[in-house]
Amino acid sequence: MTQSPRASDTSRSEPRRVLVTGATGQDGSYLVDRLADEAAEIHALVRPGDDAATALAERHPDITLHTGDLADATRLAAVVVAAEPDEIYHLAGISSVAQSWQQPVVTGTVTGLATAALLQSAWEFSQRAGRPVAFVQAASGEIFGDPDSSPQDESTPIAPVNPYGAAKAYAHHLVGVYRGRGLHACSAILYNHESPRRPDTFVTRKITRTVAAIARGDAQELVLGNLDARRDWGWAPDYVDAMMRAARHERADDYVIATGRAHAVRDFVAAAFAAAGIADWAGHVRTDPALYRPVDATELVGDSGRARRELGWAPTVEFGEIVARMVRADLDAPMH
Ligand code: GDP
Repeated sequence: MTQSPRASDTSRSEPRRVLVTGATGQDGSYLVDRLADEAAEIHALVRPGDDAATALAERHPDITLHTGDLADATRLAAVVVAAEPDEIYHLAGISSVAQSWQQPVVTGTVTGLATAALLQSAWEFSQRAGRPVAFVQAASGEIFGDPDSSPQDESTPIAPVNPYGAAKAYAHHLVGVYRGRGLHACSAILYNHESPRRPDTFVTRKITRTVAAIARGDAQELVLGNLDARRDWGWAPDYVDAMMRAARHERADDYVIATGRAHAVRDFVAAAFAAAGIADWAGHVRTDPALYRPVDATELVGDSGRARRELGWAPTVEFGEIVARMVRADLDAPMH
Protein backbone atom coordinates (compact mmCIF):
# COMPACT_ATOMS: atom_id res chain seq x y z
CA MET A 1 0.00 0.00 0.00
CA THR A 2 1.27 3.49 -0.77
CA GLN A 3 1.49 5.65 2.31
CA SER A 4 2.14 9.36 2.48
CA PRO A 5 5.43 9.80 4.30
CA ARG A 6 5.76 12.92 6.44
CA ALA A 7 8.71 14.94 7.61
CA SER A 8 11.07 13.18 10.01
CA ASP A 9 9.92 12.96 13.60
CA THR A 10 11.80 15.47 15.77
CA SER A 11 10.98 13.59 19.00
CA ARG A 12 13.02 10.52 17.95
CA SER A 13 15.74 9.26 20.28
CA GLU A 14 17.96 7.73 17.58
CA PRO A 15 20.28 10.12 15.76
CA ARG A 16 18.84 11.37 12.51
CA ARG A 17 20.37 9.64 9.47
CA VAL A 18 21.11 12.08 6.67
CA LEU A 19 22.45 11.60 3.15
CA VAL A 20 24.06 14.66 1.57
CA THR A 21 25.12 14.82 -2.07
CA GLY A 22 27.51 17.64 -2.91
CA ALA A 23 28.90 17.64 0.64
CA THR A 24 32.24 19.07 -0.49
CA GLY A 25 30.65 22.12 -2.11
CA GLN A 26 29.83 25.47 -0.51
CA ASP A 27 26.32 24.56 0.66
CA GLY A 28 27.18 20.95 1.47
CA SER A 29 30.02 21.97 3.76
CA TYR A 30 27.80 24.36 5.72
CA LEU A 31 25.07 21.72 5.87
CA VAL A 32 27.45 19.04 7.17
CA ASP A 33 28.69 21.48 9.84
CA ARG A 34 25.08 22.06 10.98
CA LEU A 35 24.21 18.35 10.96
CA ALA A 36 27.37 17.49 12.91
CA ASP A 37 26.37 20.06 15.55
CA GLU A 38 23.12 18.18 16.09
CA ALA A 39 24.91 14.79 16.19
CA ALA A 40 23.22 13.43 13.07
CA GLU A 41 24.60 10.31 11.40
CA ILE A 42 25.96 11.84 8.22
CA HIS A 43 26.43 10.00 4.93
CA ALA A 44 28.00 11.88 2.05
CA LEU A 45 28.10 10.98 -1.61
CA VAL A 46 31.46 12.05 -3.03
CA ARG A 47 32.83 11.88 -6.55
CA PRO A 48 35.60 9.37 -7.20
CA GLY A 49 38.89 11.26 -6.98
CA ASP A 50 37.43 14.32 -5.24
CA ASP A 51 40.36 15.65 -3.18
CA ALA A 52 38.00 17.77 -1.09
CA ALA A 53 36.55 14.55 0.38
CA THR A 54 39.75 14.02 2.36
CA ALA A 55 39.45 17.45 3.97
CA LEU A 56 35.77 16.77 4.69
CA ALA A 57 36.60 13.50 6.46
CA GLU A 58 39.37 15.21 8.45
CA ARG A 59 36.96 17.92 9.63
CA HIS A 60 34.24 15.36 10.40
CA PRO A 61 35.87 12.02 11.28
CA ASP A 62 32.49 10.37 12.00
CA ILE A 63 31.11 10.99 8.53
CA THR A 64 30.49 7.99 6.24
CA LEU A 65 31.74 8.67 2.72
CA HIS A 66 30.13 6.84 -0.22
CA THR A 67 32.01 7.15 -3.49
CA GLY A 68 29.81 7.40 -6.56
CA ASP A 69 29.30 9.18 -9.83
CA LEU A 70 26.05 11.09 -10.35
CA ALA A 71 25.82 9.57 -13.83
CA ASP A 72 25.64 6.06 -12.31
CA ALA A 73 21.99 5.54 -11.32
CA THR A 74 22.60 2.01 -10.03
CA ARG A 75 25.29 3.26 -7.69
CA LEU A 76 23.07 6.11 -6.45
CA ALA A 77 20.34 3.60 -5.59
CA ALA A 78 22.86 1.44 -3.69
CA VAL A 79 24.05 4.47 -1.70
CA VAL A 80 20.48 5.32 -0.65
CA VAL A 81 19.95 1.71 0.49
CA ALA A 82 23.24 1.74 2.44
CA ALA A 83 22.56 5.10 4.11
CA GLU A 84 18.96 4.25 5.16
CA PRO A 85 18.31 7.98 5.37
CA ASP A 86 15.61 9.95 7.17
CA GLU A 87 16.59 12.97 5.09
CA ILE A 88 18.29 13.39 1.71
CA TYR A 89 19.71 16.76 0.63
CA HIS A 90 20.55 16.68 -3.05
CA LEU A 91 23.03 19.49 -3.62
CA ALA A 92 25.44 17.86 -6.09
CA GLY A 93 25.69 18.73 -9.74
CA ILE A 94 27.17 21.26 -12.12
CA SER A 95 26.46 24.41 -10.14
CA SER A 96 27.44 27.18 -12.47
CA VAL A 97 25.71 28.63 -15.49
CA ALA A 98 29.06 29.45 -17.06
CA GLN A 99 30.18 25.81 -16.82
CA SER A 100 26.86 24.52 -18.20
CA TRP A 101 27.46 26.37 -21.46
CA GLN A 102 30.78 24.52 -21.75
CA GLN A 103 29.27 21.12 -20.86
CA PRO A 104 25.54 21.02 -21.65
CA VAL A 105 25.30 17.22 -21.95
CA VAL A 106 27.14 16.54 -18.68
CA THR A 107 24.94 19.19 -17.05
CA GLY A 108 21.79 17.38 -18.18
CA THR A 109 23.06 14.08 -16.80
CA VAL A 110 24.42 15.16 -13.45
CA THR A 111 22.16 18.11 -12.65
CA GLY A 112 18.97 16.70 -14.19
CA LEU A 113 18.90 12.92 -14.49
CA ALA A 114 20.65 12.12 -11.20
CA THR A 115 17.69 13.68 -9.39
CA ALA A 116 15.40 11.10 -11.02
CA ALA A 117 17.58 8.25 -9.75
CA LEU A 118 17.70 9.65 -6.22
CA LEU A 119 13.98 10.40 -6.02
CA GLN A 120 13.06 6.91 -7.23
CA SER A 121 15.53 5.35 -4.78
CA ALA A 122 14.21 7.49 -1.91
CA TRP A 123 10.63 6.53 -2.74
CA GLU A 124 11.44 2.80 -2.97
CA PHE A 125 13.40 2.90 0.29
CA SER A 126 10.59 4.75 2.05
CA GLN A 127 8.07 2.18 0.88
CA ARG A 128 10.22 -0.77 1.87
CA ALA A 129 11.22 0.65 5.27
CA GLY A 130 7.67 1.80 6.00
CA ARG A 131 8.89 5.16 7.23
CA PRO A 132 9.15 8.66 5.81
CA VAL A 133 12.11 10.01 3.90
CA ALA A 134 12.38 13.77 3.41
CA PHE A 135 13.99 14.81 0.13
CA VAL A 136 15.23 18.33 -0.51
CA GLN A 137 16.30 19.37 -3.98
CA ALA A 138 18.59 22.38 -4.33
CA ALA A 139 16.81 24.09 -7.23
CA SER A 140 17.72 27.51 -8.59
CA GLY A 141 16.21 30.85 -9.55
CA GLU A 142 17.70 30.06 -12.97
CA ILE A 143 14.64 27.86 -13.67
CA PHE A 144 12.74 31.12 -14.31
CA GLY A 145 15.15 32.14 -17.08
CA ASP A 146 14.94 35.83 -17.98
CA PRO A 147 11.57 36.58 -16.36
CA ASP A 148 9.29 39.42 -17.47
CA SER A 149 8.62 40.58 -13.93
CA SER A 150 10.30 40.73 -10.53
CA PRO A 151 10.25 39.41 -7.91
CA GLN A 152 9.61 35.80 -8.89
CA ASP A 153 7.72 33.40 -6.64
CA GLU A 154 6.59 29.76 -6.76
CA SER A 155 3.91 30.57 -9.36
CA THR A 156 6.28 32.28 -11.85
CA PRO A 157 6.39 30.40 -15.20
CA ILE A 158 9.39 28.09 -15.51
CA ALA A 159 11.25 29.12 -18.66
CA PRO A 160 15.02 28.54 -18.42
CA VAL A 161 17.45 30.25 -20.80
CA ASN A 162 20.61 28.19 -20.27
CA PRO A 163 21.54 24.48 -19.96
CA TYR A 164 21.94 24.76 -16.18
CA GLY A 165 18.47 26.27 -15.75
CA ALA A 166 16.93 23.64 -18.06
CA ALA A 167 18.49 20.76 -16.09
CA LYS A 168 17.38 22.29 -12.79
CA ALA A 169 13.87 22.82 -14.21
CA TYR A 170 13.61 19.11 -15.08
CA ALA A 171 14.76 18.15 -11.57
CA HIS A 172 12.33 20.64 -10.02
CA HIS A 173 9.40 19.18 -11.97
CA LEU A 174 10.36 15.65 -10.92
CA VAL A 175 10.29 16.69 -7.26
CA GLY A 176 6.65 17.67 -7.81
CA VAL A 177 6.00 14.33 -9.52
CA TYR A 178 7.36 12.33 -6.56
CA ARG A 179 5.58 14.56 -4.05
CA GLY A 180 2.39 13.58 -5.90
CA ARG A 181 3.44 9.97 -5.43
CA GLY A 182 3.63 10.43 -1.67
CA LEU A 183 7.30 11.28 -1.02
CA HIS A 184 8.07 14.22 1.32
CA ALA A 185 9.88 15.96 -1.53
CA CYS A 186 10.67 19.67 -1.48
CA SER A 187 12.30 21.95 -4.01
CA ALA A 188 14.22 24.86 -2.52
CA ILE A 189 14.42 27.41 -5.34
CA LEU A 190 17.65 29.02 -4.23
CA TYR A 191 18.72 32.40 -5.55
CA ASN A 192 22.43 33.26 -5.66
CA HIS A 193 23.97 32.68 -2.26
CA GLU A 194 27.55 33.45 -1.43
CA SER A 195 30.23 33.05 1.23
CA PRO A 196 34.01 32.78 1.55
CA ARG A 197 33.53 29.11 0.55
CA ARG A 198 32.17 30.08 -2.89
CA PRO A 199 34.37 28.90 -5.77
CA ASP A 200 35.67 31.63 -8.05
CA THR A 201 33.75 30.36 -11.08
CA PHE A 202 31.09 32.65 -9.56
CA VAL A 203 31.39 36.37 -10.10
CA THR A 204 31.21 37.29 -6.41
CA ARG A 205 34.23 35.28 -5.32
CA LYS A 206 36.14 36.23 -8.45
CA ILE A 207 35.56 39.86 -7.49
CA THR A 208 36.46 39.56 -3.80
CA ARG A 209 39.56 37.48 -4.46
CA THR A 210 40.84 39.83 -7.14
CA VAL A 211 40.03 42.95 -5.13
CA ALA A 212 41.95 41.47 -2.16
CA ALA A 213 44.88 40.74 -4.49
CA ILE A 214 44.77 44.32 -5.82
CA ALA A 215 44.70 45.65 -2.23
CA ARG A 216 47.83 43.60 -1.43
CA GLY A 217 49.54 44.82 -4.61
CA ASP A 218 49.53 41.29 -6.13
CA ALA A 219 47.19 42.16 -9.02
CA GLN A 220 46.30 45.27 -11.01
CA GLU A 221 43.15 44.46 -12.90
CA LEU A 222 39.70 42.90 -12.44
CA VAL A 223 38.33 41.65 -15.80
CA LEU A 224 34.60 40.98 -15.90
CA GLY A 225 31.68 40.39 -18.27
CA ASN A 226 28.25 41.98 -17.91
CA LEU A 227 28.34 44.55 -15.08
CA ASP A 228 24.67 45.47 -15.47
CA ALA A 229 23.18 42.04 -14.63
CA ARG A 230 21.19 42.23 -11.42
CA ARG A 231 21.12 39.34 -8.95
CA ASP A 232 19.61 38.64 -5.55
CA TRP A 233 22.66 37.70 -3.44
CA GLY A 234 22.14 36.08 -0.04
CA TRP A 235 24.30 34.47 2.65
CA ALA A 236 24.87 30.71 1.97
CA PRO A 237 24.41 29.43 5.56
CA ASP A 238 20.95 31.05 5.59
CA TYR A 239 20.01 29.03 2.49
CA VAL A 240 21.20 25.81 4.12
CA ASP A 241 19.02 26.69 7.11
CA ALA A 242 16.04 27.07 4.74
CA MET A 243 16.62 23.60 3.27
CA MET A 244 16.72 22.01 6.75
CA ARG A 245 13.50 23.78 7.66
CA ALA A 246 11.85 22.52 4.46
CA ALA A 247 12.92 18.91 5.18
CA ARG A 248 11.47 19.07 8.68
CA HIS A 249 8.28 20.96 7.96
CA GLU A 250 5.13 18.91 8.37
CA ARG A 251 4.07 19.45 4.75
CA ALA A 252 6.32 19.13 1.71
CA ASP A 253 6.30 22.03 -0.74
CA ASP A 254 8.39 24.21 -3.04
CA TYR A 255 9.95 27.38 -1.62
CA VAL A 256 11.65 30.36 -3.20
CA ILE A 257 14.65 31.22 -1.00
CA ALA A 258 15.90 34.74 -1.66
CA THR A 259 16.47 38.10 0.01
CA GLY A 260 14.06 40.03 -2.24
CA ARG A 261 16.72 42.64 -3.09
CA ALA A 262 18.66 42.84 -6.33
CA HIS A 263 22.01 44.52 -6.91
CA ALA A 264 24.01 44.93 -10.10
CA VAL A 265 27.37 43.22 -10.57
CA ARG A 266 28.73 46.78 -10.67
CA ASP A 267 27.33 47.39 -7.13
CA PHE A 268 29.09 44.27 -5.91
CA VAL A 269 32.36 45.52 -7.40
CA ALA A 270 31.95 48.93 -5.73
CA ALA A 271 31.13 47.37 -2.36
CA ALA A 272 34.13 45.02 -2.59
CA PHE A 273 36.60 47.83 -3.33
CA ALA A 274 35.06 49.88 -0.51
CA ALA A 275 35.51 46.95 1.89
CA ALA A 276 39.18 46.73 0.87
CA GLY A 277 39.63 50.48 1.46
CA ILE A 278 40.14 51.38 -2.22
CA ALA A 279 38.12 54.48 -3.14
CA ASP A 280 39.37 55.13 -6.66
CA TRP A 281 38.77 51.78 -8.34
CA ALA A 282 37.51 52.56 -11.86
CA GLY A 283 40.99 52.18 -13.38
CA HIS A 284 41.27 48.65 -11.98
CA VAL A 285 38.17 47.29 -13.75
CA ARG A 286 37.89 46.29 -17.40
CA THR A 287 35.14 44.43 -19.24
CA ASP A 288 35.84 41.71 -21.79
CA PRO A 289 33.10 40.76 -24.30
CA ALA A 290 34.37 37.14 -24.16
CA LEU A 291 33.01 36.95 -20.58
CA TYR A 292 29.48 37.92 -21.61
CA ARG A 293 26.99 35.02 -21.62
CA PRO A 294 25.14 33.96 -24.82
CA VAL A 295 21.89 34.76 -22.93
CA ASP A 296 21.85 36.35 -19.48
CA ALA A 297 18.92 37.17 -17.22
CA THR A 298 18.73 40.95 -16.75
CA GLU A 299 17.41 40.65 -13.23
CA LEU A 300 16.71 37.68 -10.95
CA VAL A 301 15.13 38.54 -7.61
CA GLY A 302 12.99 36.25 -5.49
CA ASP A 303 9.93 36.66 -3.27
CA SER A 304 10.46 34.29 -0.33
CA GLY A 305 7.07 35.06 1.25
CA ARG A 306 6.00 31.42 1.41
CA ALA A 307 9.23 30.32 3.17
CA ARG A 308 8.92 33.22 5.60
CA ARG A 309 5.30 32.42 6.43
CA GLU A 310 5.42 28.62 6.47
CA LEU A 311 8.98 27.84 7.53
CA GLY A 312 9.63 30.89 9.72
CA TRP A 313 12.73 31.51 7.58
CA ALA A 314 14.38 34.89 7.01
CA PRO A 315 17.76 35.98 5.63
CA THR A 316 20.08 37.22 8.39
CA VAL A 317 22.96 38.92 6.54
CA GLU A 318 22.48 41.88 4.20
CA PHE A 319 24.30 42.58 0.94
CA GLY A 320 27.02 44.97 2.18
CA GLU A 321 27.94 42.64 5.04
CA ILE A 322 28.13 39.59 2.74
CA VAL A 323 30.56 41.45 0.46
CA ALA A 324 32.60 42.68 3.44
CA ARG A 325 32.87 39.19 4.97
CA MET A 326 34.05 37.72 1.67
CA VAL A 327 36.63 40.46 1.11
CA ARG A 328 37.88 40.13 4.71
CA ALA A 329 38.27 36.36 4.30
CA ASP A 330 40.24 36.85 1.07
CA LEU A 331 42.45 39.51 2.65
CA ASP A 332 43.12 37.24 5.65
CA ALA A 333 43.77 34.01 3.73
CA PRO A 334 45.05 34.80 0.25
CA MET A 335 45.98 31.17 -0.44
CA HIS A 336 42.48 29.77 0.18
P1 GDP B 1 24.79 32.77 -11.80
O1 GDP B 1 23.78 33.87 -11.61
O2 GDP B 1 24.40 31.49 -11.10
O3 GDP B 1 25.18 32.59 -13.20
O4 GDP B 1 26.09 33.26 -10.96
P2 GDP B 1 27.44 33.96 -11.45
O5 GDP B 1 28.09 34.50 -10.22
O6 GDP B 1 28.27 33.03 -12.29
O7 GDP B 1 26.97 35.18 -12.39
C1 GDP B 1 26.19 36.25 -11.91
C2 GDP B 1 26.12 37.34 -12.95
O8 GDP B 1 27.41 37.93 -13.08
C3 GDP B 1 25.72 36.86 -14.36
O9 GDP B 1 24.78 37.78 -14.88
C4 GDP B 1 27.03 36.99 -15.17
O10 GDP B 1 26.81 37.29 -16.54
C5 GDP B 1 27.68 38.17 -14.46
N1 GDP B 1 29.14 38.25 -14.66
C6 GDP B 1 29.81 39.34 -15.10
N2 GDP B 1 31.13 39.07 -15.18
C7 GDP B 1 31.30 37.77 -14.79
C8 GDP B 1 32.45 36.94 -14.67
O11 GDP B 1 33.58 37.33 -14.93
N3 GDP B 1 32.23 35.66 -14.20
C9 GDP B 1 30.97 35.20 -13.88
N4 GDP B 1 30.82 33.95 -13.43
N5 GDP B 1 29.87 35.98 -14.03
C10 GDP B 1 30.03 37.25 -14.47
